[in-house]
Amino acid sequence: MDDSDRLIHSEAFVITQVDYGEADRLYTIFTRSKGKIKAFARGVRKTKSRKAGHLQPISLINLMLAKGKSFWTITQADTVEPYETIKSDLFKTANAFYILELVNRFAPEDEAVQPLFNLVKDTMTRIRVEEDPFMVKKFFELRLLKITGYMPNLTTCIQCGETIMREDQYFSAEQGGILCPRCGVSSPNARKISMMALKYLRFIQRSTYQELGKAQISQAVKGEMDSIMLYHLTYINERAFNTPFFIHQIEENDTDKGIKK
Ligand SMILES: [Zn+2]
Repeated sequence: MDDSDRLIHSEAFVITQVDYGEADRLYTIFTRSKGKIKAFARGVRKTKSRKAGHLQPISLINLMLAKGKSFWTITQADTVEPYETIKSDLFKTANAFYILELVNRFAPEDEAVQPLFNLVKDTMTRIRVEEDPFMVKKFFELRLLKITGYMPNLTTCIQCGETIMREDQYFSAEQGGILCPRCGVSSPNARKISMMALKYLRFIQRSTYQELGKAQISQAVKGEMDSIMLYHLTYINERAFNTPFFIHQIEENDTDKGIKK
């Protein structure tokens, strides 16, 4: 590592933070130039700290980082985009935290992944402007899987290789994609997936975000797509996610109050 690697300037998102010692904090951050890293901010819990206000999740920030023997230290932090519209809305906030949770689970440590950084940045902007973040999230999930090499096969049966027909199918996270009805029925862990849910997942898989437009998807199909994607993501990650439950609770609460999401 030469000196140019010891001091870097990078765009970043804070993913998590934990207090450390008397006045410090250890952050997990997702940076454009070094990927997901852990970095200390010294004295950040003191009232005079200028950095503290900028080091928040759901903000695009500019950081100066210095590499010590084994850890990065944040020497300067400035907010580039605070996404106030997201932070002032509980539902948008929960969805943005879901994106950060996925980044935390899927981004490799100490390895720059520029397409993923661009995707996270675009996704935060989309959550900010879209009333319904459903398509934003599904697009993010499928692109995240593509970038990290876990894209499920949605076009041919992963067991017999047959082209998938226009009918209800099965999905297997263990085998990494769609099973035709003949193969699916004999695979104990495969889940049923309706033709409509599969159609929309394939549509999102092959489209750019701009091409998605305003697809009118029923609540039932949305629920099915959510559940299949969560099953796949959880299987790959080998443990459950925290934020989907939180999002679901907000949705239930809003439905009770007559607010439609
Ligand atoms: Zn088959």
